[in-house]
Amino acid sequence: MRIDKLLEMNGYGSRKTIKRLFSAKKVKVNGVVIMQQNINVDPNIQSIQVLGKTIETSPHVYYLLNKPKGYVSSHCEKQEKSIFSILKKSDYRSDLSMVGRLDKDTEGVLLLTNNGKLAYEMLLPDKHVKKVYEVVVNGSLKKEDCATFKAGITFLDGTKCKPAKLEIIWASEHSSKAYVTLEEGKFHQVKKMFLCVGVKVTALRRVRFGPLILDEKLAVGQYRALNKQELNSLE
Ligand code: URA
Repeated sequence: MRIDKLLEMNGYGSRKTIKRLFSAKKVKVNGVVIMQQNINVDPNIQSIQVLGKTIETSPHVYYLLNKPKGYVSSHCEKQEKSIFSILKKSDYRSDLSMVGRLDKDTEGVLLLTNNGKLAYEMLLPDKHVKKVYEVVVNGSLKKEDCATFKAGITFLDGTKCKPAKLEIIWASEHSSKAYVTLEEGKFHQVKKMFLCVGVKVTALRRVRFGPLILDEKLAVGQYRALNKQELNSLE
């Protein structure tokens, strides 16, 4: 992170005030006076002192967001609403990222954290982190589709999906509702899987991400910090 941004996040005042601190030689990295404001630093591995006081290592934060439709899973997309714009100013940190992505028109569980190691590990294929999606499609799902999902679907471009669990909640002639459980996360995977059995996804909501279950008390567009139990379950 840029050192001036780090100072701003740690309450050292406006950009103008921070600029003055640099000019007055009040900022040190590993004991050396720094006058360039644009260098990148990491308080986890470097000692950063301002006015003789060391900046503490930033604690990790974890938020469970019930992502609404219409928001993109990235930091800044021109002309698009970012999921990070949902956060209160006091909760936002530039080192936050989402663990995996949801499409713009998908709702549901999204974990936001600045714990890069945990985020990286949760996305490793051999971690087999389960993701459960509630899906509505525009046609009739059949028992045979469950077997097709279980056998592992292959997309038209040859991409092979791991076996997935399809549970049909209800099916009528023109629409059906189901849960699908995946242990991987390919681009538009759920939508593409249903296209392979001849139906189109009309609504998609992630209800579970690993041990994190969509909290029904958390309305669409709301977020909260993970509770102790959830934090322990991530370890
Ligand atoms: N699969 C999709 O097609 N979209 C998502 O947002 C997540 C999984």
